[in-house]
Amino acid sequence: SSTDQVAFFNEDMEKRLLRQDKIVKVLREVIEGKDTESFYLEFQPKLDLMKDKIIGFEALARLRIENLGQVAPDEFIALAEEKLLIYDVGNHILLRACDFLKRLQDEGFHETSVAVNISGIQLLREDFVENLQQKLFSSEKVKKPLEFEVTETVLLDHFSQINETLEAIKKMDIAISLDDFGTGYSSFSRLAELHIDTIKIDRFFIDKISHTAEKDLIISDVISMAHKIGLSVVAEGVEDERQKAYLQKYGCDIIQGYLLSKPLPEESAINFLRRYESD
Ligand code: C2E
Ligand code: CA
Ligand code: CA
Ligand code: CA
Repeated sequence: SSTDQVAFFNEDMEKRLLRQDKIVKVLREVIEGKDTESFYLEFQPKLDLMKDKIIGFEALARLRIENLGQVAPDEFIALAEEKLLIYDVGNHILLRACDFLKRLQDEGFHETSVAVNISGIQLLREDFVENLQQKLFSSEKVKKPLEFEVTETVLLDHFSQINETLEAIKKMDIAISLDDFGTGYSSFSRLAELHIDTIKIDRFFIDKISHTAEKDLIISDVISMAHKIGLSVVAEGVEDERQKAYLQKYGCDIIQGYLLSKPLPEESAINFLRRYESD
């Protein structure tokens, strides 16, 4: 009956709200430094195909909450955005990523970079750059080589504002990579105007390599066009040798994905790097 449905709906809704409340509460405690356990970063290596060298890592946010288990970043980042916690969460992520950079440098890896995902909401905030310069850089906690990954959609919706911000970021000597490339609607003429260094081809397209005849794939064209306008190309979500071979053949610069490694906890990431260097 319809009353049953309403009851179901309410129960579901209540569960969802309780879950959200719990996540938000934990995020607040993380930001305030009261909870140092639930939130952490993992690091996924990026391989330079030409040099056969690990050139850096992407930092990926992780949240593990008692009774809820592992909460996916897609869920808690979206929630942080909705509750306007993303600025503080984003700063926290950046500082933690810089702790890892410091660790890399202490281990002698001075050229290994760390890439941090930046939410479009963070980028759109007027004082994003000022905050970076004043709060973060002046504290000397921010290390380099640092890279930001920003998604294609936000860039295209607010082109000139975002592009100005990107220019200012580049002046701070931070590299910029356009994440999830291909899922939006960027044209190459627009891309050429953007203050970015790299495009990161979305996993969706990399996956196609395994199921599509080589002649029907357009990734090779994307790679050569990107190179023509001076951008380097990263392929994300590379899972098998066939994909790697295709990408290598067509001059993709960098690959990332389970074929090489899943995102790793700090200690394992350092060990991975050591092992790769010694082989
Ligand atoms: P993304 O930036 O596109 O990150 C790539 C996602 O693909 C990651 O999922 C990664 O673990 C996963 N992945 C990597 N290699 C493979 C592969 O070979 N196969 C498959 N199937 N998946 C692979 P994750 O860690 O769950 O992150 C999901 C999304 O959450 C990220 O997508 C990003 O948009 C967001 N996110 C994660 N960490 C942060 C963060 O620190 N800040 C912000 N703003 N967003 C973040
Ligand atoms: Ca990313
Ligand atoms: Ca991506
Ligand atoms: Ca993605």
